[in-house]
Amino acid sequence: MLPPARSLRILLVLLVTCCLSSRLLPDSAPAPDAQTRVAQLEQIYADAVDAIGVISTIDSGLFSTYREKDRAAWKRLYTEKRAQLVAGLSTLPTEDLSPSLSQADARVVGIMRNALQSTLPEDPNASSGAIGPPSGSCKNASRKDLDAAALQHALYSCFGEVGNNLSFEGKRVTRDSAIAMLGQIDDPQRRKALFLAFVPLWETINGKDEPDSPYRRRIKFAAAHDLTIHASPIDAAAKDLGLTTDEVEQWLEKILDTWRQVTPNQPVEPWDYRYVAGGGDRGADRALASTLSPESMLAMNYAYYHDLGADLKNLGILYDLEPRPGKAPITYTDYVTMGRIENGAWQPTVSRVSASFGQSGLYVLNMLVHENGHAVHYEAIHNRPAFMDIGDDFFCEAFADVTSWNVYDPAWQRKYMGREVSESAGLRSQYTMVTLEATWALFELRMLHHPEADPNLVWTEITSHSLHIIPHPEYSWWAQRVQLVDTPGFMINYGLGAVVTAELRQHIRQQIGPFNTGNPQWYPFVSSHLLQYGTERETLGLLRDFLGRPVSPDALVNDIRRLSPVPH
Ligand SMILES: [Zn+2]
Repeated sequence: MLPPARSLRILLVLLVTCCLSSRLLPDSAPAPDAQTRVAQLEQIYADAVDAIGVISTIDSGLFSTYREKDRAAWKRLYTEKRAQLVAGLSTLPTEDLSPSLSQADARVVGIMRNALQSTLPEDPNASSGAIGPPSGSCKNASRKDLDAAALQHALYSCFGEVGNNLSFEGKRVTRDSAIAMLGQIDDPQRRKALFLAFVPLWETINGKDEPDSPYRRRIKFAAAHDLTIHASPIDAAAKDLGLTTDEVEQWLEKILDTWRQVTPNQPVEPWDYRYVAGGGDRGADRALASTLSPESMLAMNYAYYHDLGADLKNLGILYDLEPRPGKAPITYTDYVTMGRIENGAWQPTVSRVSASFGQSGLYVLNMLVHENGHAVHYEAIHNRPAFMDIGDDFFCEAFADVTSWNVYDPAWQRKYMGREVSESAGLRSQYTMVTLEATWALFELRMLHHPEADPNLVWTEITSHSLHIIPHPEYSWWAQRVQLVDTPGFMINYGLGAVVTAELRQHIRQQIGPFNTGNPQWYPFVSSHLLQYGTERETLGLLRDFLGRPVSPDALVNDIRRLSPVPH
């Protein structure tokens, strides 16, 4: 994933853009002095953006100094650059910019002004784009007097304190490792015991499912916030596809109904679901067993992306993959410094991938290929500083899965892992993962529309109908993903993003041929057609131009149907 609150930031950027554009005349010859002032301010803006990136990387624990400056020096630099930016922007007109600025420059000024309230606030710790180590305390989550922000911080901390310290057979396991192991362990009693090792996490998140449980208070805050101030990630994703939220719900239902039709109508316990549905994971994990480690998974990533025309080693991406206390309890990719022209030459973006991979397996390998999808996305953006960002959550999460789904492909496994599973087992594993994310997306959509609803019942209804999972409303077993409490609604970017992923994969294949085991045209092609613009282009128009038509769920639904229908 990417740092949270990006949707909000992009939405604000687009709002500013739309309001400015509507007032502006077509490009006219701008006064050179104003154009020069904007260009100079944009360099100062880029310095402040870089300082925030370095400060959040230092706070992540990856390093303590960067370019021979420590956090205090970067903080001073940030404060200085931000003050210069504020002063410079205040000399530009606040209302109608058209007499003195071109349309593009006016848009850039709008972006920089907006950033002062979102990504570049006075206190760098409050930046809306930053993911940090937990700053709250999980035990506070049960306090009924917390406001929305304090409750969010407390629940986020629970995923570090409790979620990454699950107790199983006398050992501590991280959440991602436990999820991977649920698909691997053969003994059903051990699987159930591992599933129940999540109970302390579920109870810190949702108590005993009482009406004022921490999660139920969190979702009420989020629903009220979305209605009164900002659109939710679900509204943002709907806008990216030109849909209403009702249509989004119908698309998710269609995906899950297709899955229901191609999976056995045999009731399965929730602790057995990943094992039974994910036979492909198991086969691949056994094939990988002798070489499983973060290093070997990274080596597979280097080889695969190299074959796609993207040399991860030379792109200067930083990897921080081992668990350590206090680390952000989430797998994500962020920038350290953004690319820009310095002394006449392009200086590339430096990005970093952060994870806590205690256990290897196809589940985490898929995550690493996904994160590298974000990293190559960062590297591909070549634009002026104001547009140097990865774009909205929905598009970039969908893009990152274009490559990551290939780890389930037998040809990919043969080439990069040395052994493969059958095509149907691989496909079933892939869509077990994809449809679980669609399930969370539908769950969040319904919870945000009906925040008074009982989350355990909402989850049970969807999973028993679409996934054939035996009802266990006594467990809040939906509470496995950090995003559910950190940014309610975020799961739409994966659940509905799969529609875009399938469309992109199909169209790229049609244009340049298969890329499941490499294709050197892949990176140049996606860079020039999809990625290079950064935030300059809106997702709706970008996807429509790329595909030559609006996005449809057909590519995804037809791909799921490749699994033989099961008689019910
Ligand atoms: Zn991602």
